[in-house]
Amino acid sequence: MNADPWQREFDVALGAVRDGALLARDIREHVGDRALLKADRSPVTVADFAVQALVAHRLADAFPGDPLVAEEDAAVLRGSAGRTTLDSLLAALRSAASDLDSNSVLDMVDRGRGVPGERFWTLDPVDGTQGFVRGDQYVVALALIVGGRVQIGLLGCPKLSLSDEPGDDYGAIACAVRNRGAFRVSLAGHEFIPLRVSSCRDTHSAQVLRSFEADHIDLDAFNAIVRTLGVESQPTLMDSQAKHAVIAAGRAELLIRIPATKSFRDKIWDQAAGSLIIEEAGGRVTDLRGARLDFETGRLLNRNEGVVASNGLLHTAVLDAFRGIMTES
Ligand code: AMP
Ligand code: MG
Repeated sequence: MNADPWQREFDVALGAVRDGALLARDIREHVGDRALLKADRSPVTVADFAVQALVAHRLADAFPGDPLVAEEDAAVLRGSAGRTTLDSLLAALRSAASDLDSNSVLDMVDRGRGVPGERFWTLDPVDGTQGFVRGDQYVVALALIVGGRVQIGLLGCPKLSLSDEPGDDYGAIACAVRNRGAFRVSLAGHEFIPLRVSSCRDTHSAQVLRSFEADHIDLDAFNAIVRTLGVESQPTLMDSQAKHAVIAAGRAELLIRIPATKSFRDKIWDQAAGSLIIEEAGGRVTDLRGARLDFETGRLLNRNEGVVASNGLLHTAVLDAFRGIMTES
């Protein structure tokens, strides 16, 4: 794939996401889905730490000066409750990163505490940890941000098929480089196939995606928009930026994320890779008021409330429906 001017960055990131996704799948099969609780009560598993350590290690080797802004840190692993998890983590990394010992693995996880700057990487090692635990969708999400704009986005999707072709049930990577298009490549293969959003122009026949976890969104407002648009089929519930890959591949038209509270702000690693992939596949991504996502405001999307992602053709219909609902309430 032509990733000019980011060829080296893309090649390193693709290798890291591919190996990270395979590692996560392997951990789910052989180590299991046991989760610890973080300070905010959200679950974290061996896979979250292992993938973060692996990707951080690859990026540190190739681009030692680049900050990494990632979801996890090693705080729980350094405490006594984390001892068993740390042992499982070291065992899981034995073949993928055999040179990491218990100190260096903690340091690699903590590389994710980098500060966003002019150029940095952002990583969600297991986006959709709840999906991972449940046996549903999850992805490894990595993006390079330069000057506040996403330049490279990759989603390693171990449980997602992006085509109906036989043999494509092994999992896929969706990826994009700014101005170079969006592609899928099998987790096992090396053939890049272009991704293109759907050409659906009618909201009635649109397929709509939302978070599996109902408490991640304002469900009443979501249902009101779907009703206003006259969408006929039931929304599909899906964890993580697997939703973004599905829209980029033209297998659904709309993703609507209305935060449960007005003050909630999404994390940059939950939107960066997916938004570039949809845009490069010909779609559109904005917040609920139509503003572009601003990746220049730190670890959170501080200037954006919610997310609308679409095939482009149906975008203004969603923004209009949201405005109508806000005016009514
Ligand atoms: P999704 O499955 O699309 O909701 O995306 C999963 C992401 O939602 C996780 O990576 C979390 O960062 C994020 N998340 C966790 N709690 C919430 C919440 N209460 N509201 C919105 N997003 C959340
Ligand atoms: Mg996430």
